[in-house]
Amino acid sequence: MNASTMLRSIFREIPQRLMRAQKVHLCASSLSHNPGPLTQFTDDEIMMKETVAKLAKEEIAPFVRKMEKEGKVDDGVLKKLFENGLMGLEIPSDYGGAGCNFMSTILTVEEVAKVDGAVAALVDIHNTLVNSLIIKVASEEQKKKYLPKLAQTYAGSFCLTEPGSGSDAFSLKTEAKKDGSDYVINGTKMWISNSDIAGVFLVFANANPSAGYRGITTFFVERDTPGLAIQKPEDKLGIKASGTCMIHFDNVRVPESNILGEFGHGYKYAAGFLNEGRVGIGAQMIGIAQGCLDATIPYTLERKQFGKDVFSFQAMQHQIAQAVTDLECARLLVYNAARLVDAKKDVIKEAAMAKLVASETALRVTAKCIDFMGGVGFTTDFPQEKYFRDSKIGTIYEGTSNMQLSTIAKCIRKEYS
Ligand SMILES: Cc1cc2nc3c(=O)[nH]c(=O)nc-3n(C[C@H](O)[C@H](O)[C@H](O)COP(=O)(O)OP(=O)(O)OC[C@H]3O[C@@H](n4cnc5c(N)ncnc54)[C@H](O)[C@@H]3O)c2cc1C
Repeated sequence: MNASTMLRSIFREIPQRLMRAQKVHLCASSLSHNPGPLTQFTDDEIMMKETVAKLAKEEIAPFVRKMEKEGKVDDGVLKKLFENGLMGLEIPSDYGGAGCNFMSTILTVEEVAKVDGAVAALVDIHNTLVNSLIIKVASEEQKKKYLPKLAQTYAGSFCLTEPGSGSDAFSLKTEAKKDGSDYVINGTKMWISNSDIAGVFLVFANANPSAGYRGITTFFVERDTPGLAIQKPEDKLGIKASGTCMIHFDNVRVPESNILGEFGHGYKYAAGFLNEGRVGIGAQMIGIAQGCLDATIPYTLERKQFGKDVFSFQAMQHQIAQAVTDLECARLLVYNAARLVDAKKDVIKEAAMAKLVASETALRVTAKCIDFMGGVGFTTDFPQEKYFRDSKIGTIYEGTSNMQLSTIAKCIRKEYS
């Protein structure tokens, strides 16, 4: 085929490719009901948002600097999270949870993050990765055993990353060898959130290395299991009160009944549930950015220079307007992805976009807020520097910004192929 014939055949195909790419929009326009604006909530969602906002202000805010300094979530704050249902948001009431939808989880994470990004990380990872995976794939017996405790007693950890496998998560080296009716786990996990306080760990280990990533299986491992050694929390740039530890597994023996879901399906669970998790990280990021703006804009209306409040200068107004607009764009992506999760739709691309935009926006907006404050914004007397440091994790965990772009690109290729 010469060059001009090839080009003609490509151009003939373009309308069909565009039709395929637009399929989603055509389906959406044929929906029989009117779903309403993205920022319109149900009564239950509004109640959850308002209750959590009050709780965050009254019960979390007074402890933020103390928790930051001590590098751990205050015991009293943790107790309040359990008592108020924040640790069992989507867990059905039959298992002691609040029985909410995913959108309520997102609004909860956002409201908590307005006050403290670290407590938001705890609530988010516990609900959107650990609880969610158990609710959807665990056996009835496992649900009865673990869900009431996760809703009311202890936190959970999601153990995927290892020292040698981060972005390339499925090259993990932790192994689970069959021994009679047990599995014996050996390996090391790294950067495991909530592991300082968790009572149960969802551990991704390869139980059939000859099958490659298809051998990855998920196991329940309880904190007091012999051979499990949790190291001291990492000293981090931000979300300091969120305990992030390395964990060694030295001949950790668990019964076969501790396999979560199906043998060899761990990679599917990790990939699938991290999509929902990413929407949660998006919520954490928009909360951090909003909390920072809420602490900053009133100051610009009060601070006087050249005989006027600094908000009066057009250069300031335009930058503040831009920051608020960017944040609203990020929020709409996060809410849209959340609504798609509740509608049981595929969210691979939307979750990646939401996390990418929300985390990059939070980083930009919080940095700008420090500028809007002038010198005081650079001190620990004001909260902007903490919001800025806390926002940095968003571009790294649950897949770096590069990995989100790769996921989005894969989806685009599929839509146009
Ligand atoms: C505070 C914190 C909490 C965490 N909590 C958890 C948790 O609870 N559970 C858990 O399992 N993990 C957790 N993680 C791990 C986190 O998900 C990983 O750190 C993240 O996926 C990145 O992996 P990495 O650190 O090994 O970076 P690497 O994969 O080594 O990446 C280094 C750089 O290379 C780039 N890169 C790598 N591959 C590609 C590619 N193919 N294309 C383009 N660029 C690429 C990355 O974007 C990055 O810029 C946490 C991490 C932190 C810091």
